[in-house]
Amino acid sequence: MNKEIAIDGPAGAGKSTIAKKVAEKLGLVYVDTGAMFRAIALFMTERGIVAGELDRIKSKLEDVKLDIVYENGEQQVILGDENVSGKIRKPEISKAASEFAVIPEVRTRLLNLQRELAGKRPVVMDGRDIGSKVLPKAGVKIFLTADVRVRAERRYKELTEKGEIVNIEDIMSDIKSRDEQDMNRAVSPLVQAEDAVLVDTSALSIEEVVEAIIKIARDKNPEFN
Ligand code: C5P
Repeated sequence: MNKEIAIDGPAGAGKSTIAKKVAEKLGLVYVDTGAMFRAIALFMTERGIVAGELDRIKSKLEDVKLDIVYENGEQQVILGDENVSGKIRKPEISKAASEFAVIPEVRTRLLNLQRELAGKRPVVMDGRDIGSKVLPKAGVKIFLTADVRVRAERRYKELTEKGEIVNIEDIMSDIKSRDEQDMNRAVSPLVQAEDAVLVDTSALSIEEVVEAIIKIARDKNPEFN
């Protein structure tokens, strides 16, 4: 059994927080694939390109120089020469990322990068289609979810702590429309892989979720003990 762990789920379910901690505890590398879609969205929006402009997107995709590097164990997203790890977290980029993520050419481009990263070292990778499409042979697959209100409250807390001025109702409607778009797109929709274990985090603390996933991983693969 391989040591790959795939974590999928809707926006705000806590995937990145949890995946990072699971990776630390099990000595794996954490790969956040949402950050890659966000970087493409940032690249295009900075050039005034919107998700409907397929021809422009296809021609500009070749110019996207996207690199994932690690600084003190933290994933950094480098676009061209710029570290955009902070910029890609803005709410307007969340929305744009989901719109660009329906485009097959965008997904193919990122699929190659995602598999390349996973090919180097065992990873905990999070996203929407990791267990179903990117790493279908991952030894452990988790589908992480939570009640939409709980997810909105978590995202609100995260953004306000960073000094962003946001409104919880706007966040909730943004989460709902992203989920809708992510679940209903034709290519690689957000879906629970058949062999994924469902973990509902609504009433659990971060530590409880991390422990639950580590237990699932250890039960599946004794090498994690
Ligand atoms: O996970 P995060 O919220 O950062 O992802 C931003 C957007 O990127 C998602 O709403 C989704 O549309 C897209 N995404 C995707 N497939 C992935 C990861 C993210 O389509 N594996």
